[in-house]
Amino acid sequence: MTLCFNGNDFKYEMENVARLFFPLRRFSYIYGGELPEKDFLAFIRREVSEGGELEVRIQDENFAETAISFVKQGPQYENRCEMEFARMLYRLLQKDTGITPKWGVLTGIRPVKRLQIDMESGKSRQEAMAEMTEGCLVSEEKAHLAMQICEIQKEILADSKPNDFSLYVSIPYCPSRCSYCSFVSHSIDHPKAKKLLPDYLDSLVKEIDFTSKIYRELGLRLRSVYIGGGTPTVLTAEQLRQVTDAVRTYFDPSPELEYTIEAGRADTITAEKLQVIKDAGANRISINPQTFEDSVLQAVGRRHTANQVVECYRLARTFGFEAINMDLIAGLPTDTLEGFCHSLQKAVELAPENITVHTLSVKRAADLFSQMNGSEDYQAVQAMVDETARVMEKAGYLPYYLYRQKNTLGNLENVGYAKPGFYGRYNVYIMEEVQSILAVGAGGVSKVVKPGSIDRVFNYKYPYEYLSRFSDILARKEQLKELLKGGLADGNRPERTV
Ligand code: SF4
Repeated sequence: MTLCFNGNDFKYEMENVARLFFPLRRFSYIYGGELPEKDFLAFIRREVSEGGELEVRIQDENFAETAISFVKQGPQYENRCEMEFARMLYRLLQKDTGITPKWGVLTGIRPVKRLQIDMESGKSRQEAMAEMTEGCLVSEEKAHLAMQICEIQKEILADSKPNDFSLYVSIPYCPSRCSYCSFVSHSIDHPKAKKLLPDYLDSLVKEIDFTSKIYRELGLRLRSVYIGGGTPTVLTAEQLRQVTDAVRTYFDPSPELEYTIEAGRADTITAEKLQVIKDAGANRISINPQTFEDSVLQAVGRRHTANQVVECYRLARTFGFEAINMDLIAGLPTDTLEGFCHSLQKAVELAPENITVHTLSVKRAADLFSQMNGSEDYQAVQAMVDETARVMEKAGYLPYYLYRQKNTLGNLENVGYAKPGFYGRYNVYIMEEVQSILAVGAGGVSKVVKPGSIDRVFNYKYPYEYLSRFSDILARKEQLKELLKGGLADGNRPERTV
């Protein structure tokens, strides 16, 4: 599909809008010149010198229409033109395809942050909502969802301090690879991965030790610990204890601190490992069914049944964790609206404190990408997400964090729901980028949040690189220390950027 530009270069935004309607298509671009005779999707023309005329012309298989608008020169002229073009293109493609993406032309991944910024800059609740619905064509329902989350997050973030941080520990191993996964995670069955694992854990402990020195030296305040991956419970109980002992020895998390360990897949959970998690002082775990339909679990390469998830959940309940989260995914291959509603109902019946509902994101890295032809039933996925909001509200769960990813089916969102008071603070910190994160392990990304900007320090993605270049990892931690020092010197709470 070709996008043609004349008198402007709004490629990035226009491609994002076009992708809302054609998420899996490849785009090409033509700049300058006149309108080609055929084989294009949209012609986007700006007449800068004569009255600010903007033109968007669509020519798809069975659809051709042109829209004209005018934007006068003045403050923020480029931004105003870009937004007007986005709205024009959106409306024409909406007519062309019959699809109405509910987040309008808002293509950023953090809609809630946008509201927070607007209100912090002095806009009223109504003005911020109108900016979303009228300015960005977001549906009333989604704008309301974002505002509800924004208000809940205000409470969670009320006592944030500039020296706050969370610790993230990465275990990039899984029992097998799910077909929709785009994380760097290694199947533990692979002989090379298995062989590296003991060395990986030894180095991880060294990195935890090294990082704790930064925390003490700079007088930072630890707000939460999150051990994720991958699937941390793919480790043996003894290996898991090696990691949790290191966190305890070097960071000494207090019993009140939010401490989460992802138990992820039911085929990795045992009573012995749950005991290790409990002994570590972790108070939250995640047991992720993704779906309660056995045929769908099989289709996406998860080697456990829905019943196993229920058994694990019941077992975990006997350990008295404060909160258990369950992840579900809307739009999994072979799933149906009926199957998804059954999964949702089953999760609600089990009554975990948190239920997180993701919309399937098909990134190029996932095996699944090559099997898709772009003809998935977006309306069905939309119905799944709508049903989620209805069922969650009825069951007394509140939405408390939200983010979007690129290439998400129907351009829909991922939402964390919680019973009141059981919000997972780490999820808010990481998704809204309001707190520094010190990450250890392969694939970990540390973030230093400071006024007006965020600096990122990356660890190597793969365990073999992480091991062979471990001295670089420690050198990068020194760099991280300097960035943190700089952030503390800048003081005060970070300004937000969308
Ligand atoms: S369990 Fe999660 S991290 Fe592991 S392969 Fe499946 S989706 Fe990826």
